Amino acid sequence: MESPSTYLESLRPAGSKRSGKRDLIVNVFLRQQGHLTADDLFDLIRPEDPRISRATVYRTLQWMVDAGIARKVDFGEGRFRFEHSYRHPRHFHLICKSCNRSFEFLSSDIEALLEEVAAARNFAARQSVLQIHGTCESCQTGRAPVADGGTTELLFARDALRIAIATERSGLEFYTRAARITRDARGRRVFEKLAEEEKEHLGTLEARYRELLQQDPQLESRPTFLFFKGAANGLFAAGAEQLAKGVKDREALMIGIRCERGSHRFFKRYGEKFEDSEGKRIFLEFADEERAHLELLIREYRALLDRQQAHKKKSVKAER
Ligand SMILES: [Zn+2]
Ligand SMILES: [Zn+2]
Repeated sequence: MESPSTYLESLRPAGSKRSGKRDLIVNVFLRQQGHLTADDLFDLIRPEDPRISRATVYRTLQWMVDAGIARKVDFGEGRFRFEHSYRHPRHFHLICKSCNRSFEFLSSDIEALLEEVAAARNFAARQSVLQIHGTCESCQTGRAPVADGGTTELLFARDALRIAIATERSGLEFYTRAARITRDARGRRVFEKLAEEEKEHLGTLEARYRELLQQDPQLESRPTFLFFKGAANGLFAAGAEQLAKGVKDREALMIGIRCERGSHRFFKRYGEKFEDSEGKRIFLEFADEERAHLELLIREYRALLDRQQAHKKKSVKAER
């Protein structure tokens, strides 16, 4: 993953000269979490370099927005706030009108719906803003807020891993069941091999999840960032249900192909949309694994067809 400084270098237009003031402002900004007003940022800059004016901070913020380093958000307070986009996936906001805090979340289902609407209206969407205004849990109950200070990057990685693990589990369940019902010996071995692989991947993902927890002891208890009701693990669960109804070997392979294809597409399309981050990498690596499974299943499906045809020809010859 690129570091903040290489990230900044990559954004600098070729031939433009470095500006010490601008670099300082950008670096301070990138160290912040949450949503700052221009004045918040100016207050943070002043102790570092009192010669930097408010106007320079404003101008640099606008430059960062244009360069894609910062996103401008409007929470309806009559002034803009800014958040950085470095390793920070785009997201939606919950905004508490009592304490003025904001909370970030994302939902693959809402995003899919927004895309569907834009496509149906032939609208080239550039940005979708979704905000839920109201009163947060701690303002309603008077209890201390749920563990604050977690970074969205870690939450995103945590939730991406949870989605991948859930999908892997339902894949394992699917292949275990498919191996049990398949009568063709070679087909059965393929399903057993895939079940083995899913088990191994599951182990790797779980180890990675534990590693992530070490970076933030409170990570597990932090609120969900990425909601994924309709994501790919539903595909394998539906596939396993179809298997339970009793299917022929060929159909079992076909169902597996459909599940892996759907899963591959989901993780690839979803992962590609994100800024460079651990969560993005998890999705894209997972998409690759699913593609490898897909290719294996397609090869086996063709081989099974060939075997069945050869068998048919042989029996026709025998009849003659
Ligand atoms: Zn509140
Ligand atoms: Zn935000």
